[in-house]
Amino acid sequence: MSYIKQNLLEIQENIARAAGKSGRKAEDITLVAVTKTIALPQIREAYELGLRDFGENRVQELLPKYEEFDVPNWHMIGHLQTNKVKAVVEKVALIHSVDSLRLAHEIDKRADKSKNKIDILIEINVAAEESKHGILPEKAVELLEQIEHLPNVCIKGLMCVAPFVEDSEENRIYFEKMYKLFVDIQGRRLHNTDMRILSMGMTGDYQVAIEEGANLIRVGTGLFGNREK
Ligand SMILES: *Cc1c(COP(=O)(O)O)cnc(C)c1O
Repeated sequence: MSYIKQNLLEIQENIARAAGKSGRKAEDITLVAVTKTIALPQIREAYELGLRDFGENRVQELLPKYEEFDVPNWHMIGHLQTNKVKAVVEKVALIHSVDSLRLAHEIDKRADKSKNKIDILIEINVAAEESKHGILPEKAVELLEQIEHLPNVCIKGLMCVAPFVEDSEENRIYFEKMYKLFVDIQGRRLHNTDMRILSMGMTGDYQVAIEEGANLIRVGTGLFGNREK
């Protein structure tokens, strides 16, 4: 068995267990395979193994992969500069990293109005880390109340990159905080909003994230092995 297949089986078991703990099933959780620095043969193998969602964090890496490999869903998971929006906006299934009105505005402007709205997530800097992108949790509602007026954008949920920790249990409080915010916003019935996706959890902490309510996880290293820097 290849290492990717072996890793995938292990991840799928972990997903099922963590989903069970929060009263859900494995099918309720979307696994996004994070392919940054990963070459096409490995990406193809992940596709052959049944994966359909792939994530990149840089536009300049996403575009060539998009051209060469037509997967159902490419996800833009990294920070997006406004001057790069035009190049990706109609190519990705979901933009995870919207954290300003300016960026949302640009996405709205660059959307092809004859097609569906562009699905976005709002990135939350859940632990208020200086090094991280994202809007602070306490400012999220205010931002959403501005973005909801953009007609070509649909807010599908929230995303976060939790702190880098040794013990994933340390991030439980942040995932819990994200889930509360997610439910709070669901209850507000904003326009152009269909809160369904809670994108949180990476290789080191996806099990805790699922236990606390994540329904989309982004896993790179755990699937493809260590990345070369
Ligand atoms: C790289 C990356 C991941 C995956 O990280 P791993 O620890 O390798 O699983 C998830 N989300 C974002 C935004 C990333 O940049």
